[in-house]
Amino acid sequence: MSSSPVHVDRYVVVGNPVAHSRSPEIHQAFAAQFGDVIEYTRAEVTLGGFKAFADEFAQSGGRGMNVTVPFKRDAFDYVTTRDDLAACAGAVNTISFAQNFAQNGHSQGFNTDGVGLLNDLVQRHRLALSGRVVLLLGAGGAAAGVIAPLLGAGVKQLIVANRTVAKAQALVAHLQERLGDNIPLAAAGLNNITAPVDIVINATSFSLGGGAVPVAPHIIKGTFCYDMSYGPAAEFCRWAAQNGANTSVDGLGMLVEQAAVAYYLWRGNHPETDPVVAHLRDSL
Ligand code: NAP
Repeated sequence: MSSSPVHVDRYVVVGNPVAHSRSPEIHQAFAAQFGDVIEYTRAEVTLGGFKAFADEFAQSGGRGMNVTVPFKRDAFDYVTTRDDLAACAGAVNTISFAQNFAQNGHSQGFNTDGVGLLNDLVQRHRLALSGRVVLLLGAGGAAAGVIAPLLGAGVKQLIVANRTVAKAQALVAHLQERLGDNIPLAAAGLNNITAPVDIVINATSFSLGGGAVPVAPHIIKGTFCYDMSYGPAAEFCRWAAQNGANTSVDGLGMLVEQAAVAYYLWRGNHPETDPVVAHLRDSL
């Protein structure tokens, strides 16, 4: 007697490089919570090769994709529809492909970084955001993804400070165009941050290139510091703890939370994140 083949939904994380990505083990841990059997692989795609890879993956039945550096903008351009957070960010980190993609070519793009950050800050670290002054370091894809959610959480002022000031200004202008001129959002250079701030979020990749911490120590004194990097790359988190931050945490929780939102978008189930964060923490 022959049995019909078991259908397994296929997902992939795309980046360059991507070998370091923890997404496959995170999503397999989520799947195990629901008894789901999924396939989740990594794909290192050549620069300029995003569209061809995505088309081939989706046409062969792939259901979802996580997108990391440097393809979040390519993913934004690729998808046929985008949610509001992706539109605000100008970047997509999660794609859901239509079941009949081969016929209609439909794909939906999302940006889960901001909700992931908020869930980590508010639920795991019990941080109140309403009425606080927040300094966001960096104006790349990760920074772009978290601005609208931070504003939505009621921060009093959000300052985007970047090494290349023009990029921070362009990001602020893009958000003002979408959300209105009166949003409490301003651009700055890393050397002209004047306001006392309550919360500092590092969304730069300075530690990956071996650069110096991009902010003066007096800025972070007594603040809550959050480093989107984690593991050995969480240089800002360690430096802030040693230089007078009130609290300093890394971005491992955000990594798992943004993945949990992606899992929900794909499969309609909300995974438990605490055990997955604890497991990853032990293995770092
Ligand atoms: P990206 O788009 O390449 O942007 C990099 C940013 O870092 C730019 O603002 C860049 O400034 C700045 N930068 C790079 N080197 C610097 C230096 N030496 N000094 C000062 N600024 C420097 O990267 P991304 O996607 O935004 O990612 C940024 C970081 O967030 C990465 O470390 C990434 O791993 C992390 N991340 C974590 C999560 C999570 O879930 N935990 C999610 C997304 C991203 P210029 O504009 O001047 O070049």
